[in-house]
Amino acid sequence: MTTYPHLLQPITLGAVTLRNRVLMGSMHTGLEETGDWNRVAEFYAARARGGVGLMVTGGMAPNREGGVFPGAAGLFTAQDIANHRIVTDRVHDAGGRIAMQILHAGRYAYGPDCVSASAVKSPISPFPPRELDEEGIEKQIADIVTAAARAIEAGYDGVEVMGSEGYFLNQFLVRHVNRRSDRWGGSYENRMRLPVEVVRRVRAAIGEAILIYRISLIDLIPDGSTWDEVVTLARAIEGAGASVLNTGIGWHEARVPTIATSVPRAAFAHLTARLRPEVGIPVITSNRINTPAVAEGLIAGGQADMVSMARPFLADPDFVAKAAAGRAAEIAPCIACNQACLDHTFSGKLTSCLVNPRACHETELVIAPTDTPRRIAVVGAGPAGLSAALTAAGRGHAVTLFDRADRVGGQLHLAASIPGKEEFRGLIEWFEASIAASTVDLRLNTEASPEMLAGFDAVILATGITPRPAGITGEGAANVLSYREVLRGAPVGPRVAVVGAGGIGFDVAEFLTHHGTSPTLDPALWRREWGVGDPAQVAGGLAPEGPQPEPPARQVWLLQRKPEKPGRKLGKTTGWIHRATLQMKGVRMLGGVSYDAVTPEGLAVTVNGAPQVLPVDTVVICAGQEPERGLEPGLRAMGLPVHIIGGADVAAELDAKRAIDQGTRLAAAL
Ligand code: FAD
Ligand code: NAP
Ligand code: SF4
Repeated sequence: MTTYPHLLQPITLGAVTLRNRVLMGSMHTGLEETGDWNRVAEFYAARARGGVGLMVTGGMAPNREGGVFPGAAGLFTAQDIANHRIVTDRVHDAGGRIAMQILHAGRYAYGPDCVSASAVKSPISPFPPRELDEEGIEKQIADIVTAAARAIEAGYDGVEVMGSEGYFLNQFLVRHVNRRSDRWGGSYENRMRLPVEVVRRVRAAIGEAILIYRISLIDLIPDGSTWDEVVTLARAIEGAGASVLNTGIGWHEARVPTIATSVPRAAFAHLTARLRPEVGIPVITSNRINTPAVAEGLIAGGQADMVSMARPFLADPDFVAKAAAGRAAEIAPCIACNQACLDHTFSGKLTSCLVNPRACHETELVIAPTDTPRRIAVVGAGPAGLSAALTAAGRGHAVTLFDRADRVGGQLHLAASIPGKEEFRGLIEWFEASIAASTVDLRLNTEASPEMLAGFDAVILATGITPRPAGITGEGAANVLSYREVLRGAPVGPRVAVVGAGGIGFDVAEFLTHHGTSPTLDPALWRREWGVGDPAQVAGGLAPEGPQPEPPARQVWLLQRKPEKPGRKLGKTTGWIHRATLQMKGVRMLGGVSYDAVTPEGLAVTVNGAPQVLPVDTVVICAGQEPERGLEPGLRAMGLPVHIIGGADVAAELDAKRAIDQGTRLAAAL
């Protein structure tokens, strides 16, 4: 008997029966654009081997004007169809099922040829769209239908028509963008004509194949769809021939986080649950679901028929197989950080995953058994050392892992103490479970010394960092603390200056302004903080009263020397969330600061040439780090081969992504 009986139960979508109720949601990986179709095929085949019920590809453009960016991949030529056939064959050989997403971006298409319902520019694009005429609309429908027919020709088990997230079809649905007065605009019947017509004609073109329609349940924009409209559309889409409805949450231009790590798990599943009794076809729920237990609970509780998870399949292609085998603790968790997936996508880089550097690098980062097993010591059980130890042991080396602390994880414990970053706890627990299931000999509470390491064939130094002092006059005063002390519970006064506005300065400011339950663990509190209302009460689902954050626990100043706005270097897709959170808490963020002295009155600074004293009780130093590699000279003197990784190697701009990637790659090559 499995622990996840509902999740792992088969489901039939039209003519196709899936082996379980887990869908790998669509993700743009950038792999198609590499032109290496073996690599694309291996990415999906690995997930098929890992047991997922159905996968949806990244969005394929139906035509040039609808591509998310110029040159976006699509099924335009016979060669494209042949390339996609490599993928579908490999997936089917692995026992999997795969549908192709058709994504027409409308006014989100990043180019001057973009089109939409009306010429209303999106706030997140510099390009005003061209309003389509009747003939133009017919062309878009025909192109989508052609893409669907070609997908079936290329061997896909079905298609997903992207109708949410503020893309083309979604744009026609709301008055916010659709200002037309012809048969494609005005009444809701007219505004929904395009998506319904698309689904009707796609169904006619693809026979009995799976047709998924991704419907926006809450737009999170002003003047978005009402709940009645969502239900009306869902029923019409069912009538037009969809096999299943997948959930979309929020337009891309919404100022509410929808998938970041600070969003509560399954925060929007209640909306899928509300839609489910309104239609006769299955519904799929999505957004911030990353464990089999949460997914099982949603299906067992009748909130959805299937669960879509996307990023969790970057973190672990074997998610379903491990859940089915009773090894859920060994599933590498997606911590929803976006650091190696969406942040990469939006920087034009190939997608990967912070916790799994092999994601999208399956053919390049190969971890094979070693021919020459050696005795390897790893010092430091932070993410760098843990990844190196697990990878080396997995290859057959005899690995001993030392840490002076009483738990593995290193600085991940500090990250996990920040409200909104609770998912880091799961990452630590996964490392613990993986070490326990491995052959690694773990020595906690052990300060490594050169003598202790003498008998090993090689030593990997992963000893991390030490926080850097800021060098401010008076920094030795009792009311000046390092971020480490603060996050480990040192008492802090009601008014605080945070020196340094990097990732850690922002996190510390969040920690200090917060009290009580983390909104991430309390969905109702989180919705109030971000102003998420009920689409049944207000069109689009934005609460009329706006965000209602809890009052800050302290008055905080967040400071940096650079004259620019603090927070510019934070994550591409998440930096705005951190900035908005601190703004809501009244944090005063200052750039162009020079630090004069810590005085009994507070922190004396000069800001853009003007001296002033910030009247604070506590100063917290978050001024970056220096590598900690005191063991190196002794080990070198003993003639031991030493490899240095993570913060011990380069502290500047270090994050867990680099630490894990470097540890894995080193051990793959040893
Ligand atoms: P560490 O994690 O520092 O691990 C080093 C380990 O070595 C420690 O466990 C230490 O006890 C041990 N050690 C040192 N010397 C010895 C010795 N002589 N003998 C035995 N053991 C020893 N990164 C992200 O990617 N995303 C984030 O959102 C993020 N948020 C963060 C938030 C905060 C508040 C902090 C502090 C950090 C955050 N980071 C984040 C950074 C991330 O945690 C680090 O980059 C990462 O932990 C560095 O990994 P590491 O293995 O090199 O070193
Ligand atoms: P950081 O990003 O390098 O920031 C250090 C800050 O200290 C900067 O604001 C810097 O700005 C300031 N500073 C540097 N030297 C100083 C000095 N001598 N005196 C006063 N101020 C000084 O480092 P961090 O914040 O310590 O973070 C470490 C790493 O952890 C980061 O690289 C980051 O990737 C990772 N992290 C990531 C996240 C995330 O959400 N992805 C969160 C936390 C941490 P000025 O020089 O302008 O003053
Ligand atoms: Fe999840 Fe972060 Fe990996 Fe993206 S990079 S898949 S958000 S863990």
